[in-house]
Amino acid sequence: MYVPTIGLEVHCELKTNTKNFSSAANAYSEIPNSNLATTDLGLPGILPVINEYGVKQSLKMALAMHCEIPEFMTFERKNYFYPDLPKGYQITQFDQPVGVNGYIMINVNGEDRKVLIHDTHLEEDTASLDHYGNYSLIDYNRAGVPLLETVTEPCMHSVEEAIAFLEALRNIFLYCDASEARTDRGQMRCDVNVSLAQEGMQELGTKVEIKNVNSFNNVKDAIISEVRRQTEILESGGVIAQETRRYDENNMCTYSMRSKEDAIDYKYFKEPNIPPIRIKRDWIEEIQKELPTFPYERITKYMEVYGLSRYDATILVKEKEMAEYFEKTLDEGADPKAASNWITSVILGHMNKYEIPITKLFLTPKMLVELIELVTSGKISSKQAKEVLHTSLEQEKSPLQLVEELGIKQIEGDAEITAIVNEVFAENPNAKAEYQAGRTNIVDFLVGQVMKKTKGQANPAMTRKIVQEEIQKG
Ligand code: ADP
Ligand code: MG
Repeated sequence: MYVPTIGLEVHCELKTNTKNFSSAANAYSEIPNSNLATTDLGLPGILPVINEYGVKQSLKMALAMHCEIPEFMTFERKNYFYPDLPKGYQITQFDQPVGVNGYIMINVNGEDRKVLIHDTHLEEDTASLDHYGNYSLIDYNRAGVPLLETVTEPCMHSVEEAIAFLEALRNIFLYCDASEARTDRGQMRCDVNVSLAQEGMQELGTKVEIKNVNSFNNVKDAIISEVRRQTEILESGGVIAQETRRYDENNMCTYSMRSKEDAIDYKYFKEPNIPPIRIKRDWIEEIQKELPTFPYERITKYMEVYGLSRYDATILVKEKEMAEYFEKTLDEGADPKAASNWITSVILGHMNKYEIPITKLFLTPKMLVELIELVTSGKISSKQAKEVLHTSLEQEKSPLQLVEELGIKQIEGDAEITAIVNEVFAENPNAKAEYQAGRTNIVDFLVGQVMKKTKGQANPAMTRKIVQEEIQKG
């Protein structure tokens, strides 16, 4: 038996107005080569100017990942030739990155795990190449876009763990508003390192790096196929070559790109145009205060304090705005379970159907609380509440207003319900005899008749109780 070990290097484009070292826009554009400055083109004599906001976003992320922040951060040049790299080097961080020695908490199948972060560093994206038949076109719009690369320790041992980590990391980016982290736009890309070791062995096996995997699904498939390939080699007595591979999603397998012998020497040296930058401690404290509560902590609280299931808690924290909405209903006095139920069922259904974000929802947290109170005080049944909520969302009218307008109420009076029950028995003179003869499910029919007569306004539980009592009198 072999145990896989996985380490990830995740690149994520930061959300900023301008690029990392130039004043060109960091924005999506239909027109190639429209967002660029001389710095991005690597023209002679260029001088990079560091984007302060990009540094701040990186620090936010580093703090969110519980990293240590070095007193000074430095930038280095990573030299290599490729057509998408106009300067012939990438400005990145090598010696003193923005954050080191951090961790992210994740949950895999109900079990808590700590994923160790080796470092997170700020660098610039390359241009993009579009390949056509026998020629390629270069688009410099992406050149110089701030990129935060997060490197984990080799500490994950399953596909589920790797994917849970990527999802947690993406959520932290979103909660920090540091990136849109959209894999479909190539904003989040990943190098996947995989090795196998004999079960029980401390030492890790030789790692293979799979470069630039562009979706979580492909990360999953790349790990599965690479583990299979390495297992076959080891089981037939072979050795794993340390190499860089690529994942081919059409054939669902990895293929070799270059071996360790061909490894590039990047000849790192200090970027001479950017002096070391002192990160003031009071700036860090300021940023720390701005950090939101992250999904992992929120899920724990929702489960432990509010008694929600992990499933529901996970749905609620998927977007920060939804978690905030939920928490606002609690501030207004809602019962957590009731609020969670309405949000994760009717409200989420409505949002998905019309593709509206929770921030654009007509129904305010206060209105939801009012609806919940109508149910708990017995004024309307939960079935009625469901209809009211639907209508409220569709017609953009508050639940209180709807209940008033439509005259929705619940008949709760014992005498009132008994009178209607008696009417139903009078209309069904054989009911009692049939019940005696063993047709006990006639109770459901009789309850249904009462609900029909009252247009659903009779309290269903009370109705059932009264019907049952009456029928047993014989
Ligand atoms: P390199 O010097 O080849 O870049 P690093 O030690 O810097 O290697 O690690 C790069 C990435 O590879 C990290 O994400 C790390 O977790 C991962 N990694 C290192 N060794 C292993 C291993 N034996 N198995 C799986 N992943 C590994
Ligand atoms: Mg490395």
